[in-house]
Amino acid sequence: MEVRAVHKPIYLDHHSTTPVDPRVLEAMLPFFGSKFGNAASRTHSFGWEAEKAVELARRRVAELAGAAPREIVFTSGATESDNLAIKGVMEAGRGKGNHVVTMATEHLAVLDAVRHLEKQGCRATILPTYKDGLLDPASLREAIRPDTLLVSVMHANNEIGVVQPVREIGAICRERGVYFHCDAAQGFGKMPIDVEADHIDLMSLSAHKMYGPKGIGALYVRRRGPRVALAAQMDGGGHESGFRSGTLNVPAIVGFGVACAIARREMAEEAARTGALRDRLLAQLEAALDDVAVNGSRTRRLPGNLNVSFPGVEGDSLLLSLPEIALSTGSACSSASVEPSHVLKALGVGPWRERSAVRFGLGRFTTGEEIDYAAARVVEAVRKLRALATGAG
Ligand SMILES: *Cc1c(COP(=O)(O)O)cnc(C)c1O
Repeated sequence: MEVRAVHKPIYLDHHSTTPVDPRVLEAMLPFFGSKFGNAASRTHSFGWEAEKAVELARRRVAELAGAAPREIVFTSGATESDNLAIKGVMEAGRGKGNHVVTMATEHLAVLDAVRHLEKQGCRATILPTYKDGLLDPASLREAIRPDTLLVSVMHANNEIGVVQPVREIGAICRERGVYFHCDAAQGFGKMPIDVEADHIDLMSLSAHKMYGPKGIGALYVRRRGPRVALAAQMDGGGHESGFRSGTLNVPAIVGFGVACAIARREMAEEAARTGALRDRLLAQLEAALDDVAVNGSRTRRLPGNLNVSFPGVEGDSLLLSLPEIALSTGSACSSASVEPSHVLKALGVGPWRERSAVRFGLGRFTTGEEIDYAAARVVEAVRKLRALATGAG
């Protein structure tokens, strides 16, 4: 295969973070300079200017979510939003209920928040998924009890890209009168999500997963039909309707807003483009190699995600032999440990597929040349490692 020269290293790890879009950066810069005001300062133009910029950003985030601006609470990111949603609902609902339902393939920010609550006496049901990573809505229906307050099920998974039937899950929660929290850090800005149509009551967002800056995100908190009872987890000056005290990170919020405005305009076209590149990558791998196993549903997944196992090849060894391609074997959030991914474990694909899994995360600036180059290098490396393993090399 002839491959045109590409700029290296090639970044194919967009689930761990995305580059800041140049249009986002440009909008942020003045807020590091002359527009440095505190958005909570009510007595002068520096404060008013900052507040105006924050409120524009809030509208932009709300528009992309189908929410009202006052339902958007800015946080430091999806980890904080997950913690605020889960701990905040369970704390505020003490006396009404004590049970939370979630899923085994959730992000650790959700699973560890739930574990923390269990140590304090809350009850939790952690639902398994089908082998393709999808949740069975019937199992959720059965898990909801009279003392259930909250269901937390993510939109798109950060490792295998599987997109849950969020609308169906939301409808079940609404019917049973429990709150529905959705960690949408991966899917927001890449696929349509609407808190009304999808019956979402709380939703975690992160700017750096959608071409905005790191350290900023939001929690959507429904204000009516039903109004969510939420206990703040940070005490202080009462910013963000009292849900999250602390001086607002104005430059980052401005960037998050612009990232949402861009996503709103370009999402459909971008999803088609990255989806086609992902399919081309998989087609090239499958054409050249035996035994390529896709982890997670082949159809219900994020357009830029491909998680595949090459049985017989350790994922770590494969990555080491591909220094010019930025890839991941699982989630960067747990990369400090050498444990296999809890997501792949939950799928029950078996130890070899767990150990040989590689995650490709394509994004806004990924090109066809990069994909062709990466596919060729991966094929070469897998062949070599398999040959070594069988003693033929
Ligand atoms: C990245 C991610 C998070 C954590 O978001 P931060 O903003 O980095 O704290 C939570 N959930 C999912 C699904 C993610 O992909």
